[in-house]
Amino acid sequence: MAGNDRDRLKTYRSKRHEGRTPEPMGGTPSRGGEPHFVIQKHAATTLHYDFRLEADDVLLSWSVPKGPSTDPRDKRLAMRTEDHPLDYLDFEGVIPSGEYGAGRVIVWDTGTYQNLTELRHREVPLAEAVESGHVTVWLEGEKLRGGYALTRMGGDDERERWLLVKKSDEGADARRNPQSSQPASVRSGRTIEELAEDC
Ligand code: MN
Repeated sequence: MAGNDRDRLKTYRSKRHEGRTPEPMGGTPSRGGEPHFVIQKHAATTLHYDFRLEADDVLLSWSVPKGPSTDPRDKRLAMRTEDHPLDYLDFEGVIPSGEYGAGRVIVWDTGTYQNLTELRHREVPLAEAVESGHVTVWLEGEKLRGGYALTRMGGDDERERWLLVKKSDEGADARRNPQSSQPASVRSGRTIEELAEDC
């Protein structure tokens, strides 16, 4: 598994300089139990939210410019990005200028999720669901709860374009805008502006 893990994170490591970025370089296996998700708010060249789902000892990742909505009518663009190490679940900090993804990162929401993806009444493992371009998950976060669907729309291998859409369930609420009403980190309580002052 260690060799496999190194391969999965090859792209991640190739973009970063160990020692210059405070980001984890990975390798820690799963904590077990329910798989985790994290949504990081990342003030880089442009502000965006990184949506990550634990599967097979890595975090499958998408960059969501506007962040996930709680309104099922919203279709949020989600660009697939490189797999991240599991240790990234806890990452919050400042990536120095000149480094890949330079800017501030906070843990905007995190928790566990259930994979609800089915194909012809068969449960589909998450990695296979992502390969097929159709993913349904149930999030148990502090800010976000309920079903979300991710659907691949196109793009190339480098930049796959997906849509992230809230399912109609008890976690749906068209009047909420959690990105503006709940901006702080669920780990430290700091906003992304406060993080900069602290560092
Ligand atoms: Mn990012």
